[in-house]
Amino acid sequence: MKYKRILLKLSGEALMGDQQYGIDPKRLEQYANEIKQIRDEGIEIAIVIGGGNIYRGVQAEASGIDRVQGDYMGMLATVINAMALQSAMEKAGMYTRLMSGINMEAVCEPFIRRRAVRHLEKGRVVIFGAGIGNPYFTTDSTASLRAIEVEAEVVLKGTRVNGVYTADPEKDPNAVRISELSFEEVIRKGYNIMDMTAFTLCQENNVPIIVFDMNKPGNLLRLMNGEDSVGTLISNS
Ligand code: UDP
Repeated sequence: MKYKRILLKLSGEALMGDQQYGIDPKRLEQYANEIKQIRDEGIEIAIVIGGGNIYRGVQAEASGIDRVQGDYMGMLATVINAMALQSAMEKAGMYTRLMSGINMEAVCEPFIRRRAVRHLEKGRVVIFGAGIGNPYFTTDSTASLRAIEVEAEVVLKGTRVNGVYTADPEKDPNAVRISELSFEEVIRKGYNIMDMTAFTLCQENNVPIIVFDMNKPGNLLRLMNGEDSVGTLISNS
């Protein structure tokens, strides 16, 4: 296997499947099975999940709720997704732990870095809920920060497309996938991979990012096998 410890970032929206809102149980089961395939190969897995399928802080202001309050609502939304994913993963036969950036001991552990690392070493899949626990951040920033903290070798950003393309593949039939990019090139060419806070955290701390299509069965395992038909690798080299 190419990696030993990874951090997988899933967006909340991905959990909607074909629905307009909420969680699609089929999608949840599919993701759990994808994760199981790489867990069975002994990969240590940390997961950060977003909350955009339920609530986003930027929505709040439009409805008269202040931004900070809205951000906390968004963070709580990620915990709902994390709990759903945790159940699906346990059903698929994995040992899991949910750690939260906001203390809520009735449903999850607080985030304690050393404890998170210990869980990973023991083969438990660790989900980080509630983002960093602070407003004005995103779950992408959480993914970068937690990856650095637990010393994951790579951030895998699961999306609906198989990486970065020369043009929009849904519009331009000549668009081709770029298999590798440097952090600098991404900035120079204005590709939108993650928000800048999340992106520069990875760049400065030398954590590569792989953008890939999480919805295509087997892709996660292909990435772990080092197949270069999947995704775009962004690194400092
Ligand atoms: N959020 C936050 N701090 C964090 C992580 C998340 O305030 O550390 C809030 C923010 O309002 C965000 C929402 O939680 O809009 C949901 O997360 P995100 O939008 O990153 O989810 P995704 O787009 O991945 O579904």
